[in-house]
Amino acid sequence: MEKYQRIWEDAIQKMKAQISQQSYEMFFGTPKHVYKVKNNKMYVVVQNQHEQFMLDKFYLKDVAEMIEEVSGFNYDVKFVTDEYVKNDEQAFDLTKPDPNLPKYYRGNLNTTYTFDRFVAGKSNRLAYMIALQVAERPGEVANPLYIFGGVGLGKTHLMQAIGNFILDDNPSSRILYCTSEKFIDDYRHASMDKNFTGFKEKYRNIDVLLIDDIQFLSKKEQTQTEFFNTFNELYNDNKQIVITSDRPASELKDIMDRLTSRFEWGLQADIQVPDSQTRIEIMKKKLLGENINLEEFPEEVLEFVASKFNSNVRTLEGALKRLIFYATINNSDFTLELANEALRELFKAEQKNTKIDVNNIIKEVAAQYGVAEADILSKKRKKNIAFARQVAMFLTRELTGNSFPKIGEAFSGRDHTTIMHGCEKIEKEMKESEELRSALTQLKQSLS
Ligand code: ADP
Ligand code: MG
Repeated sequence: MEKYQRIWEDAIQKMKAQISQQSYEMFFGTPKHVYKVKNNKMYVVVQNQHEQFMLDKFYLKDVAEMIEEVSGFNYDVKFVTDEYVKNDEQAFDLTKPDPNLPKYYRGNLNTTYTFDRFVAGKSNRLAYMIALQVAERPGEVANPLYIFGGVGLGKTHLMQAIGNFILDDNPSSRILYCTSEKFIDDYRHASMDKNFTGFKEKYRNIDVLLIDDIQFLSKKEQTQTEFFNTFNELYNDNKQIVITSDRPASELKDIMDRLTSRFEWGLQADIQVPDSQTRIEIMKKKLLGENINLEEFPEEVLEFVASKFNSNVRTLEGALKRLIFYATINNSDFTLELANEALRELFKAEQKNTKIDVNNIIKEVAAQYGVAEADILSKKRKKNIAFARQVAMFLTRELTGNSFPKIGEAFSGRDHTTIMHGCEKIEKEMKESEELRSALTQLKQSLS
């Protein structure tokens, strides 16, 4: 706590310079100490309830700002009294983790996936804020919370941050994190053994269910029915459910409507690709996590790496790790030359990935069907053009995994239902036409 106490003292000194002597004496003259810092919240013990009330009313925001100025971190401040501390300490004794809890309730959360290690930027702020609210008041704010977005953009991290937060607040909470594949697997085993007791115990006797990558429930009808029942039971008991997916609930395929409509009951929040500023912030946070002094890491190197890996945070993180490793074994500084050398192979892989963008897909498809690229983006309805266009939509969906609205934008602002129909049509036709199948295989090959 010493470190935080120092931050607090520094912040108050700063405050002193900004407000009148009289106010300073009145509000900050009495001793205050930082009791704990948890989940980004700094708990400061004040003299009495009156002081707490006045500080909340007049200085809450300013104090947080000063703390951010001196520490560089954005803490929420909570003024509390001795009374609170007493209760809190007692509560903590009561909430020591129950040694009888099965280990999957806690063991399957990655403890590094916390809110304070997650960088909120334009691309994910809404999801971040809602997730934090849900963590603070599980079952009350948004149930289910449905987070969707592309690969490697932080869905699992955010979802587990909710679990870690709740567990931190109350160590005896029963949090179950699992992928939808695990759910399918468990269900299959239970069916094979004709014994659902353990399965139900595991999935229903909990406080929070975190189900990752729900899209994989697609086509698994029996499992969906079981999930439906699980969902209802938890929901009716006011237990928090969090779901992640690669697409909005309305676009889930081959998942029964009664499930997808339930996914829409709560709140949906999407995560987009982070902008370059956010990518740099993410790297800085990871460096701090690795105990690397930011001064050793020139801004230009950060910018360089962030510019090269711009579509997936996991890849960006991988690149950074490799760079750190490379610098360590070569006992070298973090220079541009070193980054270039260390990451050369990864650049190639990344370039290959970015080859799969809409423009390239359209280019290849146009060439394959002998139409102009501009025709594909045009409104022309000539049969061969319309067909090539649908093939391009289908491939874009397959290869980029972008959402239908996003693909719609790339295809001259077409409505997402148009894209959906196009994709469905090609999928249907594929089943019947050997020619189309082989054309698609060829196209995919030349695109990757
Ligand atoms: P997803 O589940 O969407 O595929 P993950 O949650 O697994 O993505 O994230 C991939 C990696 O990127 C993880 O190591 C995660 O910590 C990191 N990451 C993603 N977004 C952020 C962010 N905004 N701030 C910090 N780390 C992030
Ligand atoms: Mg994930």
